[in-house]
Amino acid sequence: MTKNIPEIFGCMVFNDDVMRERLPKEVYKSLTKTIATGKTIDASVADVVAAAMKDWAIEKGATHYTHWFQPLTGVTAEKHDSFISPVGSCKVVMEFSGKELIKGESDASSFPSGGLRATFEARGYTAWDPASYAFVKDGTLYIPTAFCSYTGEALDTKTPLLRSMDAISTQGLRILRLFGDTVTQRLNTTVGAEQEYFIVDKKMYDKRKDLIYTGRTLFGAPAPKGQELEDHYFGPLKTRISAYMQDLDEALWILGINSKTKHNEAAPAQHELAPIFETTNMAVDHNLLIMEYMKKIAEKHGLVCLLHEKPYAGVNGSGKHNNWSISTDTGKNLIKAGKTPADNVLFLLSLAAIIKAVDDYQDLMRISVSHAGNDHRLGANEAPPAIVSIFVGEELEQIIDAIVDGKTYVGAKAGIMDLGIPTVPTFRKDTTDRNRTSPFAFTGNKFEFRMVGSSQNIAMPNIVLNTAVAESFKQFADVLEAADDFDAAVAKLIKDTFTEHRRILFDGNGYSEEWEKEAERRGLLNLKTSVDAYKQFNAPKNVKLFLDHGVMNEVEINSREEIYFENYAKIVNIEALTMIEMASRDIIPAVNAYVAEVADTMGAKLAVLPDINVSVEKDIITKLSELNSKAYVALDELKKAEAKAAKLADAVKRAEAYCYEVIPAMEKLRSYVDAMEPITASEYWPLPTYGDLMFNV
Ligand code: ADP
Ligand code: MG
Repeated sequence: MTKNIPEIFGCMVFNDDVMRERLPKEVYKSLTKTIATGKTIDASVADVVAAAMKDWAIEKGATHYTHWFQPLTGVTAEKHDSFISPVGSCKVVMEFSGKELIKGESDASSFPSGGLRATFEARGYTAWDPASYAFVKDGTLYIPTAFCSYTGEALDTKTPLLRSMDAISTQGLRILRLFGDTVTQRLNTTVGAEQEYFIVDKKMYDKRKDLIYTGRTLFGAPAPKGQELEDHYFGPLKTRISAYMQDLDEALWILGINSKTKHNEAAPAQHELAPIFETTNMAVDHNLLIMEYMKKIAEKHGLVCLLHEKPYAGVNGSGKHNNWSISTDTGKNLIKAGKTPADNVLFLLSLAAIIKAVDDYQDLMRISVSHAGNDHRLGANEAPPAIVSIFVGEELEQIIDAIVDGKTYVGAKAGIMDLGIPTVPTFRKDTTDRNRTSPFAFTGNKFEFRMVGSSQNIAMPNIVLNTAVAESFKQFADVLEAADDFDAAVAKLIKDTFTEHRRILFDGNGYSEEWEKEAERRGLLNLKTSVDAYKQFNAPKNVKLFLDHGVMNEVEINSREEIYFENYAKIVNIEALTMIEMASRDIIPAVNAYVAEVADTMGAKLAVLPDINVSVEKDIITKLSELNSKAYVALDELKKAEAKAAKLADAVKRAEAYCYEVIPAMEKLRSYVDAMEPITASEYWPLPTYGDLMFNV
């Protein structure tokens, strides 16, 4: 049955259309002003909005409401209350006040607080974010909120995000005013997050403890076929996957999420979903919903969606391309290159601000995408490297070079692409060719931050981008506001900034070893693991950045640092324990059983024919026995490393022990197990193989 898409799109969202229709004119005006400018909402307005929201939600089948928030666990949290309010002894009415809309109370003690818990009360508050639309899902009205402690410290990812959006708007507006723009009231950053994921059959998944407990395979020899034929990438969708994607799209459209493109990705059973971009806080909320629905809808189809960055060793991992841009509330994109970027001063200045921000805060960029799962991608010989660099494309790079060298830029003739087929029109070739290996690439009117992990909440990468660029704008505005000759000052500022930060631009192969060496020569950071990266988090310059722009205070920064290290240790700990269990109870016994069978066969053969050739049996028994005893020793080493790490009281030392000692021990154990898999009979091997997992959907 095909549904009427335009009719269902956003039908469960309390969006602008619904607000306009259902709110008194004055209230609607006041609310949209709050949304557009980020100003605090009036209490009387909240009451009216709450009542309208409730009536609308009840019509949509809702009986409950929830303040929906994003604690530092990386996923979302919700606590449902019903609208029911007793009247007398046997009657109820459905009620929802402005107070209930604006503020909720929640026990914060079970959410990670990184030390905040010890210092402060366990109580936490949720506060309505009017700039994200409320929606009805599963009979509940969802109200997007920020989550903070009793004393007002942000316990979530959303609060600093909203503050960072304010920061870049405030500083960016100073620049716009200098360019004579008196109209713009607010600058918004926009984000479109392309989401990669893997699909696996539920029956196979259920047989893998590693997938169940950790979201990735901890053992597994390569399948005979991998992604070398590239026959999967953009290939036709399989029937089951296609049905799944259609269901997923529909569920998302109902919630007003603009899921736009879907296709197969590089690895077998890997796919991608791209929504149309929107204001950053909405994009973050929606990305979280996309991830939630990817998992939920998969279940209905007997499938499981894996959002882990590296479910399978040896094949492509999953990322999230965070497309990011800045535009005015009137829709003017500050970093749209246009036809003649060399003559567009505001564009060049904005570009300079971003280049400077990324160079100055390479460490924060790297930290914002760091977590245990993403370490298997970044720097581990696949896209993109752990070194932060920027790709701007040939034309822009030539313009920047010309500015740095003080030469006039002679425009690149935008090449005409003629495909030589009469029915295909010629089109202007992109002046920015695509560089797939770049962690941060300019694509005409936006930057694509490609280091983000597929499982991550995209709030932090955007907090860092917004705040770092706000700082560039601030420094620029300080200089320009004080300048006598504006034009000369802007020209000098652009030239100086490009000159100083030229080193962060790179258009070569980001996977190559030469780049590692070259990056080192240029003095760029190469933070190989999450733990290496986290150590830079509260460097004085980073603390100063967050403080100066009111994005996070010191308590909030320290709590996040602690959670980084804690989370990392917890994830690797679960992986190590899972490996220990699988090796001890499933794999080593299975290999022993197979060896015993081969030995029995050999004995039986020799009993009837003492001179028979049993070299096959001998060889199998010898190889497997050797590998299995090595695996057993490695297992013991892993147990010791895990026990030692788990005992460490200091969060940083503990994370270091997991990173530098437990992970290598895990890799060693895996290498012996993976070597046994191809020489153990299928019927004895206790796990579905990589082939079963990747080619059975
Ligand atoms: P590309 O071909 O460069 O990948 P697409 O048009 O496919 O570009 O867009 C990729 C993603 O970038 C989509 O999610 C899209 O909505 C998003 N995007 C496009 N323009 C912007 C913008 N101005 N700000 C943020 N994201 C954007
Ligand atoms: Mg892309």
